[in-house]
Formats: sequence, C-alpha cells, structure tokens
Amino acid sequence: MTTSTPAALGFEDIQHNLNAMRARIAAACAHAGRDPSEVRLLPVTKTVDEHRLRLAYAAGVRQMGENKVQEAHEKWQSMADLADLQWCVIGHLQTNKAKLVAEFASEFHALDNLRVAEALDKRLQSLGRSLKVLVQVNTSGEASKFGVEPAQALELVQQLPAFGSLQVCGLMTLALNSSEESQVRPCFALLRQLRDQMQQETPYAGQMRELSMGMSGDFAWAIQEGATTVRVGQAIFGARTAPAAAR
Ligand SMILES: *Cc1c(COP(=O)(O)O)cnc(C)c1O
Repeated sequence: MTTSTPAALGFEDIQHNLNAMRARIAAACAHAGRDPSEVRLLPVTKTVDEHRLRLAYAAGVRQMGENKVQEAHEKWQSMADLADLQWCVIGHLQTNKAKLVAEFASEFHALDNLRVAEALDKRLQSLGRSLKVLVQVNTSGEASKFGVEPAQALELVQQLPAFGSLQVCGLMTLALNSSEESQVRPCFALLRQLRDQMQQETPYAGQMRELSMGMSGDFAWAIQEGATTVRVGQAIFGARTAPAAAR
C-alpha cells in the first residue's frame, strides 16, 4: 500500500479521495466478511489548512481528527460557525493541556495515564461536558510510541469509572511503522484481544466497542483485525510535507 497521494488542493480532489477511501474501506470489509457500516472513516486533518478543511466539510465531513491539541483548538475556534463539526483529539496529551481538550473535543483517542484522566474529568465536570475516551495502547513495543503498555492496560481501564464525565468506549493504537503485514497485523490483533478481555473484566462491558486503528498505509489490515474507526489523513488530503509528528 502506498501513501503517496498528491496534495488534494480543490473540492473535487478531496471529494474524489473521500469516495475512493470509502470504496477501499468497503472492499477491505468485503474481504474480511464485515459490514462496512461497522467501520467509521475519521479524516485526519493535521497540517491541513482551514480552506481545505472547509472544502472537506462541504464534501460531507463532520468529524476531524487532529493529533496536536493546540492546532485542533485553533481550528475549532476559527471554524466555530460550522456548529455540527466535531473534533477528535487523537494524539498524546500533556496534563497541562487537558483543559483545552475538555473545552472543545468530542472524542479523545490517546488516554494513557490517570493524571490526564483526572485533569480531563475535573475540567469537564466544571464545564458540564462529557467526553468519549479511547485508551491508547503501545502495541508495537517501540520506545518512541505513546500509550499504556499492554500488560498495564486493564488496570488503567479498571480505574476509569472514578471519572464520571469520561465515556470510555474503546482502545486505540498505532501499529509498527512497516510495510510488512506480518509485522503490522499482530499490533492490531493484540489491541482486539485486549478490548475483548475488557468487555469481560471491566465495568464497561458492552460499552468497550471501539477499536481505533489503521491509517492510510495499513487500514486494510486493521479492518481485517476488527477496526471500528480508521484514522486517515494522507490518502484524503495528500502527502504531508511537514516533518512527521511524534506518535
Ligand atoms: C497522522 C495520524 C494518522 C493518519 O496518518 P496518515 O498517514 O495521514 O493516514 C492517524 N493517527 C494518528 C494518531 C496520527 O497522528
């Protein structure tokens, strides 16, 4: 699989890429014997400017994923006129930025410690908001990746009911950055196993549905392993020229 989609500059490029991505998701679902309505496409808009985000909105996009909180917050403010547009923060969060996320995000996919959970909950309570939360697990074992260790994930999730404004709904991961299926798929399979275990052994039971996994280069394998949300940037908006952000 390749991620070398040229930069999508106009409405038609973006619409074309969205449709192509939906077709690729449907094909991956057919291959996996799954119903495509079980897999959500979350467009990832990091480094994409407001003009192109508005074109994506015009093409029907109503949720956008951003890995940097500050960038997401600025885009939320400048696009506040699009009242039904939801923001999903998908990248690591420092405790001191939790209050920003609490203000505007509808989902947070990268919870990996109790301090952030506590900071989010405190702020959400005072704002009278709630937040869908996915716990990020480091399934690749790489030191450069964020996320709770697989062996610690259950214990973290078991402590989250203390934070009443967090709606814990699943797990998220970034696979090993490799083009080898045999290297990438085990990361996704491990996330699914952990999710299934949590359905049994945490107070969340049936609520822990989400598996947020798979990006432009590896979404088809993630769908094979049960992904319910794929986070796709470059295949929609084109190759990023900016340096790769921390994962
Ligand atoms: C950038 C990013 C993605 C999307 O990656 P693409 O290669 O652009 O599809 C997915 N998840 C996270 C956490 C990201 O930071």
